[in-house]
Amino acid sequence: MPTHPIFTPEHDELRASVRRFVDTELRPHIDEWESAGFFPDSVFRRCGELGFLGLHYPGAWGGSDGDLAASLLFIEELGRCGGGSIPMAVAVQTHMCTPAIAEFGTDELKERYLRPAISGEKIGAIALTEPDTGSDVASITTRAEQDGDTWIVNGRKMFITNGTRAQFMTMAVQTEPGSKHRGVSIFIVDTDLPGVTVSRKLDKLGMRASDTAEIALDDVRVPAGNLLGGTVGEGFAQMAWQLQYERLSGAAQSIGQGDDCLVQTIAYARERRAFGRPLADNQVIAHMLADAATELEAARALTYDTIWRVQQGEYPVVEISMAKKYAAQVQNRLVDTCLQIYGGAGYLNETPVSRLWRDARLQRIGAGTDQIMNEVIAKRMGIRG
Ligand SMILES: Cc1cc2nc3c(=O)[nH]c(=O)nc-3n(C[C@H](O)[C@H](O)[C@H](O)COP(=O)(O)OP(=O)(O)OC[C@H]3O[C@@H](n4cnc5c(N)ncnc54)[C@H](O)[C@@H]3O)c2cc1C
Repeated sequence: MPTHPIFTPEHDELRASVRRFVDTELRPHIDEWESAGFFPDSVFRRCGELGFLGLHYPGAWGGSDGDLAASLLFIEELGRCGGGSIPMAVAVQTHMCTPAIAEFGTDELKERYLRPAISGEKIGAIALTEPDTGSDVASITTRAEQDGDTWIVNGRKMFITNGTRAQFMTMAVQTEPGSKHRGVSIFIVDTDLPGVTVSRKLDKLGMRASDTAEIALDDVRVPAGNLLGGTVGEGFAQMAWQLQYERLSGAAQSIGQGDDCLVQTIAYARERRAFGRPLADNQVIAHMLADAATELEAARALTYDTIWRVQQGEYPVVEISMAKKYAAQVQNRLVDTCLQIYGGAGYLNETPVSRLWRDARLQRIGAGTDQIMNEVIAKRMGIRG
């Protein structure tokens, strides 16, 4: 069990129960779900039943009144299920599309979206990216125009995780064209509204059990009450705030998946023999694994320390960006080292390390690329204006 002052004996118990769930209910099915290109919706409901989807949310909305450390250790432990798809898709539900509803939403919005997201009865998605803009969120062109007590939304959203099955999307739109970030607003959009269509399910390099969609929005009438915060133009700040949770969950995913990959590879290196002895008895192999373990520990320490800062009431955007970027880079170096140690077997789809290698690549792109994390760090540290 990883130890750190942010974790209490209750956190350790939670970690053990998530591990049991992952070992008995997820890992045995992961190959089948990867081949099918989809995992069942029941995974969300089961996580909800077990109380895992609302660990850091208030009891008033069905949560556990726990802390961020609890919800992120859940995401980290999901990383041991044998692939990145489920941790990513579930983190969308817990840390990417609901934090802003919990923070800025009316009680009515919390009742309609947060409560069923916590129970797993509704699946959510976060819809920022568009075909023509990703990193530069202020340049989104999906447009919302007011018409009485509804807003009419037109545009396209791209790369939407859970997009083929979500019941609602937390969506960034432009309400004042030409105003860039000052005109961004967030709406909670029901996916059964007329005009919302899944135009494409996207075929991906990795994360193959997670569905990713392009969404078309044609004259979608969204009730005015679904404008988050009730005022237009607040969306960029709301989204920037919510992205901190998304990025911390990215760091937690990287640590969990990296750790799982390392444990499997150490076992393999001790068992596989070449030139009359286990691979691990070659100093170069043992040192490759020692380096990977060292880097992973550094990523873990940075992530846990950053969670601690958040729990002290800080808003440590620089450290969150560093943790997200560094954990993703460490994970990518680690899975590459591990694949090398598996040799030819590592290149086969039947060997789990090949999936972990493919899935890891997204961690340096999604939730803000390495380069965008460096932009945030450099600007906030005053390195560049
Ligand atoms: C599998 C998957 C799931 C995803 N899930 C979601 C989701 O659920 N919801 C959602 O909204 N989005 C989602 N995304 C989108 C993801 O967040 C974006 O792909 C990411 O933010 C990068 O945007 P982009 O792809 O448009 O790249 P671009 O913004 O076009 O960037 C291209 C390259 O240029 C670099 N670059 C851009 N600007 C700069 C700069 N100023 N300085 C230096 N380098 C720069 C980037 O780092 C990148 O390397 C997902 C993507 C994938 C692949």
